[in-house]
Amino acid sequence: MKMRSVGEFEFIESVKKRLPGPKSSVLGIGDDCAVLEFTADKYLLVTADMLIQDVHFDLAKVSPFKVGRKALAVSLSDVAAMAGIPKYYVVSIAVPPDAPLSALHDFYSGMMKLAAEFKVELIGGDTNRADKFICDVTVIGEVEKKLLVRRDGARAGDKIFVTGALGGSIKGRHCDFTPRVREARLLVKNFRVHSMIDISDGLSSDLRHITDASGVGAVIFDDRIPVSRDAVSKKDALSGGEDYELLFTAAGGVNEEALSGKLKIPVANIGRIVPKREGIKIVTGKYGKKDLERKGFRHF
Ligand code: ADP
Ligand code: MG
Repeated sequence: MKMRSVGEFEFIESVKKRLPGPKSSVLGIGDDCAVLEFTADKYLLVTADMLIQDVHFDLAKVSPFKVGRKALAVSLSDVAAMAGIPKYYVVSIAVPPDAPLSALHDFYSGMMKLAAEFKVELIGGDTNRADKFICDVTVIGEVEKKLLVRRDGARAGDKIFVTGALGGSIKGRHCDFTPRVREARLLVKNFRVHSMIDISDGLSSDLRHITDASGVGAVIFDDRIPVSRDAVSKKDALSGGEDYELLFTAAGGVNEEALSGKLKIPVANIGRIVPKREGIKIVTGKYGKKDLERKGFRHF
């Protein structure tokens, strides 16, 4: 059988099943970060993300500076999704031998500028040779045990919220976005958040990560989805991906106004969590209630 026929998530699941027990991690494969024991009241968070030339970016269109910024930003976004504070990063690169040194330093400048903004420190990496430029950034962070938010805590009756606006990130936002670290921290310090993920693959795909992990269903309302000015259509907002906004669920008493007021960015209530047997549905004015198709970015 080929990779193509199972796809990314099924493959990862099969790797996870092969792991011998018992595990010493609090949370291994399956969330935005791995969660490890650290101090009496804090967990350590670890996350890795890879970007590959001509798969994730085209150097004819995006500067090395922006690639560097994005390479770090996507991992900071995964730390945000656990409500953590990023602390350190490790950078591994593979480079064609004729790559200009100035471009490589620009790549590091992009990372270092963002690293300075978020106070994360470069602590190492690896350098290798390849036909295309490949980079992999690992971020290590921490989170107070009582503030950690995972994908698997959604409960029937929760409201589903999303920060910012979705879709059209391909026009540029996918390289310029600010990881929602600050917003996630404000969120968990002021509200009881049950589950959270960052939207990397697309709303319809990432919502399913929450419902699968939590063993629940969901209903979302098409007309409540915040659509970015850059989006070409509602479909784009549902499945375009690379928004790097926060998708989270909280108890019914939490409302949009209180959230937007505290976070100082728009927060939309797009639906609610329901029992698993009710499935995952979208309500549209024209078609009524129908199954939400899982359409998002797929590597295979
Ligand atoms: P995200 O989009 O939040 O970065 P991914 O979809 O890339 O998350 O990964 C989902 C989960 O699978 C994470 O826990 C990640 O660490 C794990 N994972 C991804 N690829 C592999 C792999 N090749 N081997 C083991 N675990 C993996
Ligand atoms: Mg993520």
